[in-house]
Amino acid sequence: MGVSHIRHRNIVTAMDNPTAIASLTRLGAQPEPLRFGGKALRLGKLIDAGLPTPPGFAIASGEGMNGLLAAITTLEDEAGVRLGQGLLVSLRSSPVDEAAPTAPAILNIGLTAGAMDHITARVGARAALDLRRRLIQTFASASMDADPEAFENALYDRLKFAGEDSEDALDETALKALEADYLAIVRDETDQDFPEDAADQLSMGITALTRAWNAPTARIVRQAKGADPETGQGLIVQVMSLGLGPEPSGAGVGALRSAQTGEVGVNGRFLPQAQGEDALMGMRTPRLLTRAAREEAGQNKPSLEELAPAAAAKIIELAEQAEVAIGDACNFEFTVEHGEVSVLDTQPLVANTRAAIRVAVELAESGAISREEAILRIEPGALTSHLHPMIADGAPRDVIGKGLPASPGAATGAIVFSPEAAEAAAAQERGVILVRVETSPEDIRGMHAATGVLTVRGGMTSHAAVIARGLGAPCVVGAGDIQLDQSARTLTTADGRVFSEGDTITLDGSAGEALAGASELVQPEISGSFATLMGWADEARRMKVRANADTATDARVAQGFNVDGIGLCRTEHMFFENGRINMMRRMILASEETDRRAALDQLLPMQRGDFVDLFTIMAGLPVTIRLLDPPLHEFLPHGENELRTLADDMDLPLRVVKDRADEMREFNPMLGNRGCRVGVAFPEIYEMQARAVFEAAIIAGEQTGAPVTPEIMIPLVSANRELELLTTRVEAVAEQVRRETGAPLTYHIGAMVETPRAALRAEDLASTAEFFSFGTNDLTQMTYGLSRDDAGRFMRDYVAKGVFPEDPFHSLDLEGVGELLLLAAERGRKGRPGITLGLCGEHGGDPASVRFCELAGFDYVSCSPFRAPIARLAAAQATILNRRGD
Ligand code: PEP
Ligand code: MG
Repeated sequence: MGVSHIRHRNIVTAMDNPTAIASLTRLGAQPEPLRFGGKALRLGKLIDAGLPTPPGFAIASGEGMNGLLAAITTLEDEAGVRLGQGLLVSLRSSPVDEAAPTAPAILNIGLTAGAMDHITARVGARAALDLRRRLIQTFASASMDADPEAFENALYDRLKFAGEDSEDALDETALKALEADYLAIVRDETDQDFPEDAADQLSMGITALTRAWNAPTARIVRQAKGADPETGQGLIVQVMSLGLGPEPSGAGVGALRSAQTGEVGVNGRFLPQAQGEDALMGMRTPRLLTRAAREEAGQNKPSLEELAPAAAAKIIELAEQAEVAIGDACNFEFTVEHGEVSVLDTQPLVANTRAAIRVAVELAESGAISREEAILRIEPGALTSHLHPMIADGAPRDVIGKGLPASPGAATGAIVFSPEAAEAAAAQERGVILVRVETSPEDIRGMHAATGVLTVRGGMTSHAAVIARGLGAPCVVGAGDIQLDQSARTLTTADGRVFSEGDTITLDGSAGEALAGASELVQPEISGSFATLMGWADEARRMKVRANADTATDARVAQGFNVDGIGLCRTEHMFFENGRINMMRRMILASEETDRRAALDQLLPMQRGDFVDLFTIMAGLPVTIRLLDPPLHEFLPHGENELRTLADDMDLPLRVVKDRADEMREFNPMLGNRGCRVGVAFPEIYEMQARAVFEAAIIAGEQTGAPVTPEIMIPLVSANRELELLTTRVEAVAEQVRRETGAPLTYHIGAMVETPRAALRAEDLASTAEFFSFGTNDLTQMTYGLSRDDAGRFMRDYVAKGVFPEDPFHSLDLEGVGELLLLAAERGRKGRPGITLGLCGEHGGDPASVRFCELAGFDYVSCSPFRAPIARLAAAQATILNRRGD
């Protein structure tokens, strides 16, 4: 009858499309989740594994009702009962992107007036009536635009009339009356009768869920929930198992593992005489699944285990089987019908990263999934929660400022407004948050001392951001909604609250937020499953992952994260140590080359010592030393006081020092005398650095017994002539050192490709450079003509308005900057076949950018040590996906 009705009502299009609808058991193939959604795929796996999951079929996303007739007939045959004659089905959404919220499932479809006898015979009259009024309510609300509240009111009135407070207490008579109320509401609200044709119910339900999915508001909600707004929706039609009727009957939800830790331990809720997700709806207090859980929670209502031990045992068994069948941790929905347990639906367990890693590793260790699958399961960016303290889930958040999430993790401390105050507090072992308008090299020691850094200005590659990431300290930059009053030592928030030096705040560098007070923090953990997963990732990846490390401390941290070497040592950062800065200033302010050389002679042993440390710590792994890069005036003193101290120190009149400093100021220092231009103008600086590198390589090689082949990198080149001039100088120094020491010395000289011209002229540069390292911070800045220090002011807006899909200083602009990289790689390889190619901009720690580098065939990426695990995992995923051709 059902089938002929369907034909009669003409809801089946003339042409059956066999691929539009598939039995759940046929959903094993890879592309299917993209058409039918993950939910349908998982149900298919459960059925295949022999779990008690009722049969059903899935309708592919966007496919309407093609093929419905054949699918229903097959289902009726499988169930041994016809739609309209006692077969009840559920209709639920199976989104392709599972982050998308869905409309509630429509249950009990097929429970027409004519089917009531069949259902009464199965579960009794009271339960049949309860199922019927549930169908009328959900169906009319979802498919006929009836107001759900009207049904709630009618239920409330009936409860009041019966003197009851829970719907499960309503008897047969009350439910019969309620059914009549509901049918009248449908007529009143919709001017139509409730459809008493099972096939009509199904087709109208399909139309309703499709319409709800395509509604403009639904797209907006998807976007707001972080799902793809355009994602499709498969639909699942599945035979119902009924949670109402003879005891024990009911419905519940459960999970095999804790979503917090990933540890195995069945947990969940069960509600007697219930359906679907009733147990989560809070209408009645649900029961816990096990006695142990009940005792721990201090509940006195018996648990399912105590109510129906056999059903509870079956659920625990099924939970384990479901995980193996699906190959992932999941929440599951189950129904108990007169003691018979069915699993009806599953959703991925929304576990935090720590739990997700544990699950993936345990599943791979048990053989349920492959190691590759485990590697692919974890979103590399989410590893930050393993590497830094984080604010505990659910902890209160009193946000006082918003900016860019420049360096992840969280820290609590007292506000300080100067690097000196930060150092003083650190000396007393007090945690402080350094708050500045922006930071400059002079703040570095204060930044070392602080537990976190907050700046009003700046972008993702501004000074504060780069340094904080290197230190692994949380940092929020570009928090333009707070105002600093340096002299009053206060900060004022957008809502007018004033915080003074010493007040406690918390920085959430992962969210880009500053919060009032001390938040509860969760400490990082890098052993156990995390270490296992990282080991697997290292075995799987092709590309090397190096660290950007400037000091011995950085190098040790990097070693702890198992990097393959140092890809960028920014040597200018070595000059900010106590005592060195003034020597550097003397060197810069020297008006004669001889004075400059004298100052450099003093810096030489310090640099050499630093490099010996780096080479020794890295023990034979490659170390790339970049010669001095920033504009020289950045080293100069800023305030009057500092100028005076320097003048005293140099025994020069204040005026002379001031004038010299003024002479060096540039209109646009980022595009001025920086990088190799400093080397061309003052070759003695680079010569000193080269000497320090070579002497250190020999010393470290002798001390450790592992020969060191340093890599010297020349920054900001744009013409091969620059490289030629400087390479000749460096080679001459090497020759001198060889002669002086008699020691063998091998080294490589390469170029940073970080100007568009360098990328375009890569073939030419490769005739001199033995390797290229792409400096994508500057390359992004120059490709966009967008200041890396000022972009923070409008970047949030730009991303929010979709001008940029992402901050290009954070995730590589594949279309623009990416094209330059590909072009440079191709031209560089032409100029020097087999040239080593690496990337050392901040993008080296961004998973999407790492994937790009893998596809481009680069040899390594280099990023701040704390992001190395992210890059290692991203590189492994990229290798696997690349090999699979995804
Ligand atoms: C770059 O420009 O990408 C780079 C690594 O150098 P820096 O950030 O020091 O300018
Ligand atoms: Mg650069």
